[in-house]
Amino acid sequence: MPQSPLTHSVLLSITLLAFALPASAQIAELNINETKPQITKIVQQISAQRIDSYVRKLVSFHTRHTMSETQSDTVGIGAARRWIKAELERCGAGQLDVQFDSYVEAGGRRISKPTEIVNVVATLKGKTDPGRYYVVSGHYDSRATDVMDATSFAPGANDDASGTAAVMEMACVMAQHRFDASIVFMAVAAEEQGLYGATHWAKQAREKNLNIAGMFTNDIIGSSRSEHGEIDNKSVRLFAEGIPAVKELPDATRNLIATGGESDSISRQLARHVKETGERYVPGFTVNIIHRRDRYLRGGDHIPFLEQGYAALRFTEPNEDFHHQHQNVRVENGVQLGDLPEFVDTDYTANVARVNAAALASLALAPAAPAQVQMKTSQLENDTSMRWDANTEADLAGYRIVWRDTTSSVWQGGVMVGNVLSYTVKGKSKDNYFFGVQAVDKDGNISVASYPMPEKK
Ligand SMILES: [Zn+2]
Repeated sequence: MPQSPLTHSVLLSITLLAFALPASAQIAELNINETKPQITKIVQQISAQRIDSYVRKLVSFHTRHTMSETQSDTVGIGAARRWIKAELERCGAGQLDVQFDSYVEAGGRRISKPTEIVNVVATLKGKTDPGRYYVVSGHYDSRATDVMDATSFAPGANDDASGTAAVMEMACVMAQHRFDASIVFMAVAAEEQGLYGATHWAKQAREKNLNIAGMFTNDIIGSSRSEHGEIDNKSVRLFAEGIPAVKELPDATRNLIATGGESDSISRQLARHVKETGERYVPGFTVNIIHRRDRYLRGGDHIPFLEQGYAALRFTEPNEDFHHQHQNVRVENGVQLGDLPEFVDTDYTANVARVNAAALASLALAPAAPAQVQMKTSQLENDTSMRWDANTEADLAGYRIVWRDTTSSVWQGGVMVGNVLSYTVKGKSKDNYFFGVQAVDKDGNISVASYPMPEKK
């Protein structure tokens, strides 16, 4: 919590606790707020220049429309994906497992003929917890004004060569580092035709019951300039869904609503972690959490993951310039239209990539979020007691309890509680605060917080 330091009295009580309980409370000595050299190095290694060269190369394929040419080596979506795959294999230096994930879509509202939909998927296998995955994506397909036009120039520099380039750069940099959990870097297809590529992968993940602990999509992260000319290159929007709009509420959602936890969905918890980590490692850059699934009239590749019950978020620039999205390249009334690379600010894109990479690295180094966290509700009291299941990581140090006012969207305080499976926060009523429980490892890496559900009776 760099933005909300613990109060002096809380710090004092942690210190006293450490003296009183040397074994279980040594965790209080871990400095969870200090930056980790490995993450700092990753952030420094992200290169705006390389991102720029990836964007320009992607634009050079003329169109990356999902139904465009696939035989040519220089034009169309086939050439684009073969180049992305080859580039990831080259830079991955044996650490990235790079595969095409493909299927044939028979047809749909925006697919007029049977079309092979191909995602490029690069997996960096975790060392100690390879079955826990974090996924980061951009979509490499592009479009012109007519979404069915598969031949016109469709540079898609911002939408979404910017996101694809950021993901490629993260993959190449992070492949040089080791993590506890696995990270999946994805360039997906057919976003513009209806999120087909991401939907295919997310459904397979659910069928295989993969533990996707968090997913980010990067879509339109290339421009710091609004259509009215204002520049904001110091912030990014992070869209985070609360309660999903489904007809039948699952029990977990019903419990959230019953306890006022609309803003403690797994996606919002993930968003808090991204904001804290991203802002710590990219000073001066703000992650603005937007409490929404996405913008009006728009969607993205995080949605198929949300629909499969995973925590998923969308990164998008602060102000979009719609002259340079989904438009044929042309000049009208002296205004250049079209999604051209000259309207992409790759220094800005690199900072968004740094926020992503810092968050992914911190998640993949940290333990999993604690499971089965329950709020004890057996009696009326002004203390707050919680219990949870033990984490299984070998480098686990213990747990941390965090809290915030019910009107705050970010954690405001926290206390290390040692390697215990229950804890009572004295004098802070569960009626007046939201609580979360995080797992902490011996290097001070902290997990996403888990929301306590009312105790099962
Ligand atoms: Zn897009």
